[in-house]
Amino acid sequence: MLGITPPTKTLALAFAAFLGCAAHASGTVHAHWDYQGAHEGPANWAELDPTFETCAKGGSQSPIDISSTVKTDLPSLNFDYRKTEASIVNNGHTVQVNVPAGSQFKVGDQTYGLLQFHFHTPSEETIGGKHTAMVGHFVHKNAAGQLGVVAVLMQPGPMPRNEAYAPIFDHLPRPNEKITVEGMELDLAAMLPADKGYYSFDGSLTTPPCSESVNWMVLKRPIALGSGQIKAFRRLFNANARPVQPLNGRVIKESL
Ligand SMILES: [Zn+2]
Repeated sequence: MLGITPPTKTLALAFAAFLGCAAHASGTVHAHWDYQGAHEGPANWAELDPTFETCAKGGSQSPIDISSTVKTDLPSLNFDYRKTEASIVNNGHTVQVNVPAGSQFKVGDQTYGLLQFHFHTPSEETIGGKHTAMVGHFVHKNAAGQLGVVAVLMQPGPMPRNEAYAPIFDHLPRPNEKITVEGMELDLAAMLPADKGYYSFDGSLTTPPCSESVNWMVLKRPIALGSGQIKAFRRLFNANARPVQPLNGRVIKESL
């Protein structure tokens, strides 16, 4: 890669492929959608493209409000997240961090490999009706091809910045930019809260095509970001959260 100033930051700019939030069907280009607007906003996603119909017709859509839960002896989430290089993409809907294979977590007898993570502001999921400032969605896939998303809630904290997230928030790409930072190493394990207690429920992608059969695990304990880091993200995305969807009888399990 070319060495440009500052020397440790080689910015590789490219038009991002239409990666979308939480694993769009690879290579498939869909109609344009947005978080605002009478025409392209969330209430109309299903009208924009026939492949988006699940956004309206699905019975287990995400995000949801987490209010009434059933406390259960859920299997623990055992993360084996590595230090890794990554590329950071602004796909017009969010900032997404793509990571090479190798980081994973185990829950029960299932192993989920990390594909990418990305951010929403405010948090899409609410706890007792309340949003947090942001959420990170860590998108994984198991051997059977099922998606498992681990949500990390984020609140402004007392520290000026969260060092684990700084390599990303120091290099937020503009729309349709992809950035790789030479020598950047993300400590993925440090990006999670120490307490891995969680809520578990069935849901969907929170972006078109809103595909279902996604296993959601929302970590109960938020992490802290620097308020400047949250502001930096909000300069790019003022609001990129789908409203909460009906529970339709789904049970939300909560770890003890
Ligand atoms: Zn998401």
